[in-house]
Amino acid sequence: MIDLHTHTTCSDGTDRPAELLAAAAAAGLRAVAITDHDTVAAYQQVAPGGSAPELIAGVEMSCDLEPAMLDVLGYHVEPQHPVLQTTLRALHDWREERNVQIGARLQALGLPADYAAARALAGDGELGRPHFARVLLQRGAVESISEAFDRWLGSGKPAYLPKSRLTIGEAIDSIHAAGGAAVVAHPCFLRLADTALARQLREWRSLGLDGLEVHYPEHTARQRQLYAELATALGLLITVGSDYHGSIKPQITLGGLYPPLPADEAVLDPLRAAAERWR
Ligand code: AMP
Ligand code: FE
Ligand code: ZN
Repeated sequence: MIDLHTHTTCSDGTDRPAELLAAAAAAGLRAVAITDHDTVAAYQQVAPGGSAPELIAGVEMSCDLEPAMLDVLGYHVEPQHPVLQTTLRALHDWREERNVQIGARLQALGLPADYAAARALAGDGELGRPHFARVLLQRGAVESISEAFDRWLGSGKPAYLPKSRLTIGEAIDSIHAAGGAAVVAHPCFLRLADTALARQLREWRSLGLDGLEVHYPEHTARQRQLYAELATALGLLITVGSDYHGSIKPQITLGGLYPPLPADEAVLDPLRAAAERWR
């Protein structure tokens, strides 16, 4: 069992990096990637490599494809690579501009949440909408995290603001510069019809995209089959990720994915080979 998509307290997850690794070991995972939103800070606390589980250095970069959510995962990256660091710095700055604006919107809407409260929850980590949702929940303005998104923070809702100005081409280039492989996360959130998705993936393939996250808890069986067929047809490798966030998304467990899944090596070996091509 492997899990190539997880979040820690360095972004919007609730496990610290070492806690996540311990949980992955307890779950019997053979490999795990920490893929925090727009940061590799986890790798100052835990070192890539090792075994039981192997920790694969990863990141999840927010790209601009409004109004859809386009996230690109990087694997086997060198966390401290200057090109990657420069891109992550820009993503951080845009995020912080947006976070201040989200806080102001929530205040203007008369809701009991602001930037300072969300920042206090995030600590030094990358701050995002889930932190604002947690503040709204703690202060009784909503009854669940999903209600916070459905009413206020989701795309098109009153406190929603676009996040990133990074193009997918720039994300792919930064990941490759840092010696990693680039994979489009959770294609279901692109909200594209089948033919439009095929066209987009072909275009992104021409920009150097290496893979597609086919196995994801929110993908239906039909979607998994379609994504696997598209990946195979376009020569993209297939990855497996739960998007584990700890207790904020309690229904998602580490390695919690629907069978049938590819063999671990059938995912790990092509991923490593793809990254090595960019060294
Ligand atoms: P941000 O990066 O600040 O735009 O926040 C995006 C994160 O919010 C995603 O990675 C999810 O973890 C979470 N998220 C997005 N939409 C929802 C939703 N409808 N319900 C719960 N969490 C969500
Ligand atoms: Fe997240
Ligand atoms: Zn994620």
